[in-house]
Amino acid sequence: MDKFMQLAIDEAKKGRSEGGIPIGSVLVKDGKVIATGHNKRVQENNPILHGEMDCLNNAGRIGSYRNTMIYSTLMPCYMCAGTIVQFKIPKVIVGESKTFSGAREFMESHGVEVVDLNLPECIEMMEDFIQKKPELWDEDIMEL
Ligand SMILES: [Zn+2]
Repeated sequence: MDKFMQLAIDEAKKGRSEGGIPIGSVLVKDGKVIATGHNKRVQENNPILHGEMDCLNNAGRIGSYRNTMIYSTLMPCYMCAGTIVQFKIPKVIVGESKTFSGAREFMESHGVEVVDLNLPECIEMMEDFIQKKPELWDEDIMEL
């Protein structure tokens, strides 16, 4: 397992244990972890605090994102993908896109390299969550 993806999975699990949505994210710059984060929409009552947004928020102002990669346990949605494109983050590594296809084509059309690891651990984590908390998940992806 990629050590940065393992960190993102640990963040996702932390979110789930807090009663939230199990999606974690890690920002890496020049091979070092800059920040970690996880979806806090439930915990903070904040609809835009997705895992990637929380991670970027925790990183603060880092200047250029040129040598960064962002990890997410799930394929980024259009909001997070928009931020990734806007910040010129060149590479996104995702745990899976089976439970949510997200905005891969949008990112790729803007020159972002997207790597989908298709990890069973990430798929199972989301499937379990979606099965147990369908209303929370539907709210997160605006399928109300
Ligand atoms: Zn998102």
